[in-house]
Amino acid sequence: MHCGSLMPELPEVETYRCYFRRLAVGKPIRGVIVSDRRIFPDWSGGQLRHRLVGRTFTRTERRGKYLIAYLDARRDAASGTKAGACMVIHFGMTGSLQFSRSGLRQPPYSRAAFRFDHGALHFVDSRRFGGIWWVADLTELDRIRILGADPLSEINGPDAMSEIVRRSSQPIKQALMNQRLIAGIGNLYADEILFQSRIHPRRRPASLKRVEWERIFHSMKEVLREAIRLCSQMERYPDSYLLPHRGRDGQCPRCGAVLKTLRQGQRTTYYCRTCQK
Ligand SMILES: [Zn+2]
Repeated sequence: MHCGSLMPELPEVETYRCYFRRLAVGKPIRGVIVSDRRIFPDWSGGQLRHRLVGRTFTRTERRGKYLIAYLDARRDAASGTKAGACMVIHFGMTGSLQFSRSGLRQPPYSRAAFRFDHGALHFVDSRRFGGIWWVADLTELDRIRILGADPLSEINGPDAMSEIVRRSSQPIKQALMNQRLIAGIGNLYADEILFQSRIHPRRRPASLKRVEWERIFHSMKEVLREAIRLCSQMERYPDSYLLPHRGRDGQCPRCGAVLKTLRQGQRTTYYCRTCQK
C-alpha cells in the first residue's frame, strides 16, 4: 500500500502499523529476502535468516515516525542470551510497505522482505533514506531514546503542549517539527496544524497566548486523528484542509487567497497570509 506521495509522518506510520499488524503479526516467518544490504545497517541477510526464520512478530507499536515490531522471545543457542527482540523501521522520505501474494513478482525498489505462507511483506524505498534496525531493547537506539512526547498519547492539554514547545526558540513551525520535543509531526502536518489554528508559521512559541495554544492543541489532535481515520489517503481529506491545496497557485480553502510559501529549515512552508496571524 502507498500513503499518497507523502513523506511518512505520524499518520502514515500509524497506517503502515495497521497494515503490518494485519498482514505480518502472528504469522510464522518462512524466509527473509535482503535485496539491498544497506537498508539493514547492523545485520547481514544470513544473520537475519538465522535469527528470524520460524519466529513470529507478536505486536507492533509506533514511536514518533518509527514503526516497531516485536518478535516472540527465543533464546539464542550460541550465546545463551535472548535474541534481538524488536525491529525498528524508519521510512525516510519514500519508504513504504507493500504486500505481494505468493507467486507474484516483488515490487520495484523492494529493499527487503519477510516471507510468510500467504505472501511476502516488502519494505519498498526508491530513494533509500529509510532503514531497519534490530535491538534487544529500544533504549539501545539513540534515535528512539531522544524522541519527545507523542502528540496523541502523551500531550494532554494546551498547557502541557505550550510547556514543551516553548523550550524551543525557533519559529512555531520548526518547533512543532522538532522530534526531540514532539515526535511524529513533519513538514506537511505542521503546516496543516498551523493553518487550522490560524497561526502564522513564523510566530515564536514564547509570543503565543493561551487561547492560541488551545487552538494549536485542538488542531493537532483533530488533524492527526482525522488523517489516521482516513488511512492517510490525501484525496479523502476534507476540502477545508490545506493539504489538498498545496502546490502551484493553490488557494486558501477558507478565504480563497492564493497560498504563500516560505523556506523554513530547508523545507517549504505553505500558509495563508490573510488567515494566519
Ligand atoms: Zn485564507
